[in-house]
Amino acid sequence: MRLGKGLKKSVKMWFQARWVRAGLLRMSFLLAALIITPTLQAAEQVSSVRVWNAPDHTRVVFDLTGPITHHLFTLDAPDRVVIDIPNAVKTQALDLVDFKGGPLVNMRSAPQANGDLRVVLDLDRRLNPKSFLLKPSDQYGHRLVIDLEKVGGQVATPAKPSAPVTASTSKPKSYSSMGNGRDIVVAIDAGHGGEDPGAIGPSGTREKDVVLQISRRIYNVLQAEQGIKPVLIRTGDYFVPLATRRETARRRHNADLFISIHADAFDNHRARGASVFALSRRGATSTLARVLAEQENQSDAIGGVQIDNADEMVTSVIYDLAMEGSMEHSIKVGSMVLREMGGVTHLHKKHLEQAGFAVLKSPDIPSILVETGFISNPAEERNLKSKDHQVKLSRAIGRGIITYFDQHPPPGTYFAARKQQRDSQQHRIARGETLSEIAQRYRVDLAALMQYNQLKTTDLIREGQVLRIPHS
Ligand SMILES: [Zn+2]
Repeated sequence: MRLGKGLKKSVKMWFQARWVRAGLLRMSFLLAALIITPTLQAAEQVSSVRVWNAPDHTRVVFDLTGPITHHLFTLDAPDRVVIDIPNAVKTQALDLVDFKGGPLVNMRSAPQANGDLRVVLDLDRRLNPKSFLLKPSDQYGHRLVIDLEKVGGQVATPAKPSAPVTASTSKPKSYSSMGNGRDIVVAIDAGHGGEDPGAIGPSGTREKDVVLQISRRIYNVLQAEQGIKPVLIRTGDYFVPLATRRETARRRHNADLFISIHADAFDNHRARGASVFALSRRGATSTLARVLAEQENQSDAIGGVQIDNADEMVTSVIYDLAMEGSMEHSIKVGSMVLREMGGVTHLHKKHLEQAGFAVLKSPDIPSILVETGFISNPAEERNLKSKDHQVKLSRAIGRGIITYFDQHPPPGTYFAARKQQRDSQQHRIARGETLSEIAQRYRVDLAALMQYNQLKTTDLIREGQVLRIPHS
């Protein structure tokens, strides 16, 4: 009894002392922390590192086994970027990096006394580092991205919000060597790149590689045409955000046309054929169009875009008006490209389709997206890799673009001057003259002359009738 009474009393006294209560509480927290810590904060690892060199920056991507925090700073003489990652452990991945001959010349890493992992990037020049974390997406887990931007280099990141759209563009454009009107600028956008491989074929062909090859071939076809100046939005294996693709075409190149080249995949491996798309602002024209647009719009999440650069378009009445006008032309040029492609490859559908592709949202430039074929179809994958097929596709796409501008040249261009000259050339038929004589005299094809004047047979002409002479 006495013993029990005494114990009861001392226990009561113990709990009456506030500092003891606080101490007990603290101890229990400490115990809980000791038990929980090893499972919650297991050291993360860098499981692989990729380096992508672009003309204006180098991107270094660390694949991580989980989410991390990091601290980045620079040192000079020699130029270095230092990244401290708390609670991370060194792995072999950090010693096996392919630098690909860019400004990044070495990468070193070592654990610090405080438990941080320190990674040092040795550079051959001063670069502006930017870093951000990416959450898991598609084939990737957590990633830390370091963009090393060229100092003073023109980095084509879109301003936010987008510049107001004006009804007329009066910026200087490049002029044709003939001095007879400026060149038409065609921006060729090879889809995906770098972190974003795009679709992958059954035998491992990557969309980003074949579309860059095809884009270069289209560039060559257009380069050979007087009055057209092609530009490539992506020139190597690196990622370009969707908004940057549009804005580079609009602001840096002042393009008259934007054409994005792709070769995508579909669940059904039998799906085949090329398609051409324009933007739709009111839903997609087919299920496939909707699925492809959703796939393409994933590009930013896979390729890696910092949140404050995320794609946002400001809409306004002027924007809407400009968009309606450029969409009408997108449909025209897209239909011509599709028709030409139909001569060299199977078409998925005989008409142009529309869906909400983010890359096509330039308000004032006709913009189309060409799916050159399904890389998921084994036969088309083989074709897309073949030089012969790439050449055929590129010529057809080039012809479609040239035909469109021949008929709808932007004012002030060499093409517009040529059309004006061509349209003004007329011939009044004299007594006894035949169509073939007239065709011969102007060195034009008889069939072309008839088609140009909507004549069905050669005898449907009369004296005094005025013929329009097509460009020979
Ligand atoms: Zn694609």
